[in-house]
Amino acid sequence: MSKSCADCAFFEDHKTNAAAATSEDAGLCRFNPPVSQPAASAHGLWPVVKTDDWCGHFEAE
Ligand code: SF4
Repeated sequence: MSKSCADCAFFEDHKTNAAAATSEDAGLCRFNPPVSQPAASAHGLWPVVKTDDWCGHFEAE
């Protein structure tokens, strides 16, 4: 089986951090908590990954 974010249990399909934005070939990685919170009043950001990306935390759905 090939590894890709599209087939990973932690991938949330077709979503990005901007509320209105969607992407056909990208989504959010939910493996870790949000990162890069620029200020205390700002929201942290979920890492945006492409469907054909992968990392060492890959886990099949
Ligand atoms: S970056 Fe890693 S953990 Fe996140 S969705 Fe892709 S393979 Fe899964």
